[in-house]
Amino acid sequence: MTKLSEHFNREEFECQCGCGQDTVDYELIRVLEALRSNTGPIIISSGNRCTKRNKASGGALKSFHVISKAADIIVKGNTPLEIYQYLDERYPDRYGIGVYLGWVHIDVRQKKARWDETHS
Ligand SMILES: [Zn+2]
Repeated sequence: MTKLSEHFNREEFECQCGCGQDTVDYELIRVLEALRSNTGPIIISSGNRCTKRNKASGGALKSFHVISKAADIIVKGNTPLEIYQYLDERYPDRYGIGVYLGWVHIDVRQKKARWDETHS
């Protein structure tokens, strides 16, 4: 295991296709550590996605997962909506934050983007 910060290892962010893409933007780690200090353990359900895997999983063409700046997360003991609201309040003017039925997407783009995919 390669430790990136107190609570996260590089392996948790690795592309799931086995290609080995495992870069992680440091700003993303900072956001996740800050979140974790207010919640509990965070499961990274999707970190990196190489171009190939992103295409196969139907991800957006310019997905921030491809450039190692995004994570889909599940926080034990909190609903995705609670985590979405928490992140939106903490970073009102930046980052991409999307809520889904089973997880929250967070990326560290410098502009602000929000979306809700719980009703589709
Ligand atoms: Zn891959």
